[in-house]
Amino acid sequence: MKLSDIYKNKKNGVLSFEIFPPKKDDELKDIEPTLDILSELKPDYISVTFGAGGSSNNNKTIDLARKIKEVYHIEPVAHLTGLAYTKEEIDEFVKELEDAGIENILALRGDINPNAPSKGVFNYASELIAYLKPRTDLCIAAACYPEDHPESPDHISEMHNLKKKVDAGAEVLLSQLFFDNRHFYSFLEDARIAGIDVPITPGIMPAIRAAQIQRMVSTCGAILPVEFKKIIDKYGDNNEAMYDAGMAYAMSQIIELLTNGVDGIHLYTMNKPSVARTICDGIKNIINV
Ligand code: FAD
Repeated sequence: MKLSDIYKNKKNGVLSFEIFPPKKDDELKDIEPTLDILSELKPDYISVTFGAGGSSNNNKTIDLARKIKEVYHIEPVAHLTGLAYTKEEIDEFVKELEDAGIENILALRGDINPNAPSKGVFNYASELIAYLKPRTDLCIAAACYPEDHPESPDHISEMHNLKKKVDAGAEVLLSQLFFDNRHFYSFLEDARIAGIDVPITPGIMPAIRAAQIQRMVSTCGAILPVEFKKIIDKYGDNNEAMYDAGMAYAMSQIIELLTNGVDGIHLYTMNKPSVARTICDGIKNIINV
């Protein structure tokens, strides 16, 4: 089923998970225990990341998406980045997705990466979306950034650029992770004022290790609110305590977002089924209310 229909049919509480394919030399079957548990939790869809590095490992994105659909009967979304690819390479990827019966794609620019230089064809996600739209029936989703993309010169340009993606054909937006819901609400309001009227799903990543949090903050620029900094200061050196506190923090973010009627929750699972299970157990009586 197309993402646009999933969001149309389920007015609130669309639950999705994000996973990444196994590392280069690992087998696809290595992810089966994770999928076994994630599928029990009955998400509305699972999205599969794509290496921006132009690597052959990206075939695993398609293979994993196919497996999610055929074996687990859950709707997959395949991520695709455009920066390091030619039109022909993108055409090939899309054909493989279509041949595999996959109906949804998350079209991205990808990070600037010296190991996978830009081919100069798809400089922005909006260009990739505009290229894909007339060529495929795949439902196209795009990324959005409640605290603006780190390269963004200002918030107004960010909104204009986001609108370009929707005007080009993006039918759903999935957000970057954030730790302060106020950033999401303010972004959502600005997006609606800008005339962006597609579903916008907040992305939540439970922060369960202090080192992981520092990495995330430096790569995606998310701001840590004081309440969360205090948690890291107190529990960051104790893995078990940090896990409990990080999960509780993520849970309270999710419950607050659902209470405020967001379109859904996109959970960055980090391929850790225990994370998804704890969250799902905590919201099972809330998600569809
Ligand atoms: P764009 O929308 O093109 O935006 C990038 C920057 O360019 C922004 O600052 C934007 O304001 C600016 N911009 C856009 N259009 C223009 C224009 N016309 N003129 C001037 N400036 C412009 N990366 C991966 O490699 N693999 C993944 O699987 C992956 N999955 C992701 C999933 C989600 C939900 C999110 C939020 C991100 C994901 N990323 C992934 C990261 C993403 O590739 C990076 O954040 C990347 O730097 C930007 O991609 P984008 O599609 O948002 O780019």
